[in-house]
Amino acid sequence: MVRIAILMAMKNEARTLLQSLDLRQQKQPFRSGVPFELFQGRFAKAQLSVVVSGTDPEFHVDNVATVPAALMTYLAIEKCNPDLVLNAGTAGGFGGRGCEIGDVYLGSGTFCFHDRRIPLPGFDRYGIGRYSCYDTSSLAAELHLKTGIISTGNSLDLQGKDLQLILENQAVIKDMEAAAIAWVCRSLSVPMIAVKAITDLVDEGAPTETQFLQNFHLAVKNLQIKTIELLQHLQKIKDC
Ligand code: SAH
Repeated sequence: MVRIAILMAMKNEARTLLQSLDLRQQKQPFRSGVPFELFQGRFAKAQLSVVVSGTDPEFHVDNVATVPAALMTYLAIEKCNPDLVLNAGTAGGFGGRGCEIGDVYLGSGTFCFHDRRIPLPGFDRYGIGRYSCYDTSSLAAELHLKTGIISTGNSLDLQGKDLQLILENQAVIKDMEAAAIAWVCRSLSVPMIAVKAITDLVDEGAPTETQFLQNFHLAVKNLQIKTIELLQHLQKIKDC
């Protein structure tokens, strides 16, 4: 049976998807102090695990960004031994590169960082990452999804130097987790796909945080629909 682990940074991103799946929450799935939540069950013939990053005990918000994402990925792979990791979430997009609010993208090409600037020989390239992405082109064509390079950083806002690196990375999508998850998946040789719904256009309109809150529900609904389609499709590939 194929095992799929879906990793999600925010409870509100995951809620709609979890409602549409028949999964059971595991009590204390990781050692005490680890905040991640685990939901497991069957999806058609697949064994499905959804891991959500949980809440910070001091700040009472979701554990977003790269540090929890990397740890969550490692623990999810240890615990669930997935054949495939799916990082599902929201993201910013570049209107100038064809993104529209509510679009759902599959990461393609590479996963990069835009806020790890280490101008020393070799470390400069290490900082950017540029980890190869599983080829999502035929999946995207089948499911009518757009594709683009995802660039990851630890900030929701967009500062000048980050923008320059995102453009150099030829990224279309900006998020806070994908490249961190990709690093762990590359290290442990687990294929990974990122599916991201656009909440905000980073090069147009109102400040990111305003757009994010305004468009969050639309993006999360589209993310749920497309993630289910993706799971159904992956199932078909496995059947062949
Ligand atoms: N204001 C939100 C904070 C969420 S942080 C709240 O109060 O709940 C943003 C999350 O959405 C991260 O997990 C990140 O991956 C994603 N995201 C959405 N738009 C983004 C953008 N423009 N830049 C970076 N990450 C973005």
